[in-house]
Amino acid sequence: MNIHADKQLKSGIVALAGPPNVGKSTLLNSLLGQKISIVSPKPQTTRNRILGILNGDNYQIVMLDTPGIHKAHSPLNLEMVKIALDSLADVDVIIFMIDVTFPLPEKVGNAAEYLTRAGKPVILLINKIDLVARDNILPILQAYKQLFPFKEMIPVSALHQDGTDLLIDKILNLLPVGPRLYPLDIPTDSTERFIVAEMIREKIFLLTSQEIPYSTAVMVDSFKEDEKRNKITIQATIYVARKSQKGIIIGKKGSMLKQIRVAATKDAAKLLGAGIILKLWVKVQKEWTRDSRFLKELGF
Ligand code: GDP
Ligand code: MG
Repeated sequence: MNIHADKQLKSGIVALAGPPNVGKSTLLNSLLGQKISIVSPKPQTTRNRILGILNGDNYQIVMLDTPGIHKAHSPLNLEMVKIALDSLADVDVIIFMIDVTFPLPEKVGNAAEYLTRAGKPVILLINKIDLVARDNILPILQAYKQLFPFKEMIPVSALHQDGTDLLIDKILNLLPVGPRLYPLDIPTDSTERFIVAEMIREKIFLLTSQEIPYSTAVMVDSFKEDEKRNKITIQATIYVARKSQKGIIIGKKGSMLKQIRVAATKDAAKLLGAGIILKLWVKVQKEWTRDSRFLKELGF
């Protein structure tokens, strides 16, 4: 190992924060080159803190993806926002992410307040620049300059990896010299069980509408590896908040459940590099988004 190169190693923790649906999870996956954080066109897809570990020759960036910060009402949503805000406390750098559909800082609520309270260097990322002409970006930068003393303001497209190299450079400018916090070969601290449950939840976000995704939780009940055949059998339960929702998740003759299963199986096979046999159950857990005991079981 080159000791001199190690001396220059930069390492630290960076939190991705901002309103729901701006592309935080997409950015994390895109930087990692691997999907560990689920993504959907619907807001509030991410419910937990997801950690991604980016390794370069001379850096390790530990990036925290967080739930979108929004006006919360239910105990579940209050927990989600708390997770996001708590994540800002112990980091070296905060990335505050918006997208081009948030042209005015008025739309981001009390962001200035919680960024000030966190007391960390903040980079503003304006995502989804692929959706607008370049001319539209400058006024957004100017408007946000008034909101908070950002260290950098960077337009990017997380989806097309446009501007992401520059982002890494700017993050490294703000990180201390220090050793890697995690081994080189792990992309995340989430368990395989958790990521598979998330993948199932993502398919529900993509395939169902209205209140259904927000009334659904997923837990993996068992995970059995058959190393000889390179096959993994996974059993999971989809929890819904009301009886009527169970029928919607199952669908006509089980058609919805089948679509969820087939799509999640594909993602899980890619993640785990094995053949996947996925078995799904649907259970009613009455009004679980308000049930503190059940939320605890889910890890909140
Ligand atoms: P999060 O809630 O902030 O984590 O946002 P997601 O990562 O779940 O993304 C929300 C939606 O925005 C998804 O439909 C993404 O495909 C889409 N999205 C994310 N980044 C980009 C981007 O750079 N360009 C475009 N056009 N869409 C994006
Ligand atoms: Mg997300």
